[in-house]
Amino acid sequence: MQAIVPLFSAATANAGLDLVGPMKRVVERNWFVLGEEVSKFEAEFAAYVQARSCISVANGSDALEIALRALGIGPGKKVALIANAGFYGSTAVHAVGATPVYIDVDTQTLTMAPASLRCALQDGVDAVIVTHLFGQMAAIEELSELARTAAVPLIEDCAQSHGARRNGKMAGSFGDLACFSFYPTKNLGAIGDGGAIVTSDPELDKKIRQLRQYGWSKKYHVDVPGGRNSRLDELQAAVLRTKLPELDAWNAARRDIARRYNDAFADLGLQLPHSLGEDYVAHLYVIRVGERARFIETMQAKGIGTDIHYPVPDHLQTAYPGFESVSLPVTEQACAQIVTLPCFPGLSGEDVERVIDAVHAYAEAAA
Ligand SMILES: *Cc1c(COP(=O)(O)O)cnc(C)c1O
Repeated sequence: MQAIVPLFSAATANAGLDLVGPMKRVVERNWFVLGEEVSKFEAEFAAYVQARSCISVANGSDALEIALRALGIGPGKKVALIANAGFYGSTAVHAVGATPVYIDVDTQTLTMAPASLRCALQDGVDAVIVTHLFGQMAAIEELSELARTAAVPLIEDCAQSHGARRNGKMAGSFGDLACFSFYPTKNLGAIGDGGAIVTSDPELDKKIRQLRQYGWSKKYHVDVPGGRNSRLDELQAAVLRTKLPELDAWNAARRDIARRYNDAFADLGLQLPHSLGEDYVAHLYVIRVGERARFIETMQAKGIGTDIHYPVPDHLQTAYPGFESVSLPVTEQACAQIVTLPCFPGLSGEDVERVIDAVHAYAEAAA
């Protein structure tokens, strides 16, 4: 029995990096929260994303929730977002007591369809969350222009798109705010949880810094309501500082694997990732197949890891009833057909070949 080709391997993705050195530095300094590593990482990451500032937080979900709070989104407010991005944005919308307004996606990219956002803006929404899904940048120029014209603030969810760019402009530099996750499997991953919000607006920067730490203006002075404790720690910041310089090379490696797959699958009648340019950092290599159950069975039999990102669209999740009648035909059809294949830095050429052979076996059995 051959070894399994995993969907992701932290051991492979982190191979060759010295992560113990930076951690030792922190341990020996004996300063663990909001210190030098965090300040330096925030400056380095803001510069990388082409934003004025970065405020690190405990994880990507907190980043979304705090971003909404910073924009004054709460009960009675409506937030436009897509329904095929794993419920993370929805969790944040519900957490602040606002109401999600689900927008259908583009058939090619599975990211927010500008025409659908235009309709929602006409009906009235108070904020927009645009997710750059699977590492593919959304039509962010058009979407942010629509939001700007309607005077509605826009948050980019960049948890799957660290380092993606179009015409030299980075994902995360288009919206009023952008949220990142540094969960270990993300394109820039910590060795635990982590997240960040970036912005070029000094007022939002100030408010978010207060919100992440009890609403303090200074120690023990609570000036902003809705504050909480959500901080990146020094150990994670030190690790992320070690990894950030490698991000572009890792994204290129991911994209090379996606290109090999796209070339190999071109004639199989499958729907493949749309772009292989710099606006796609191949966080997840997601294809759409006609007979998904048989596809997954074939992959399993050949020892290839797969997953579904994501199996249940947000408007049909049972914890939050009341959205079942929302009509999202593209989202619903995609949810029934999507499947994710292994694609991460360090995945060997032989393993890529094994994945390709397995997908060919599925296609040939159908023919
Ligand atoms: C991972 C992810 C998040 C949440 O990040 P966590 O750090 O796991 O809380 C949010 N949005 C998207 C699109 C994600 O993929």
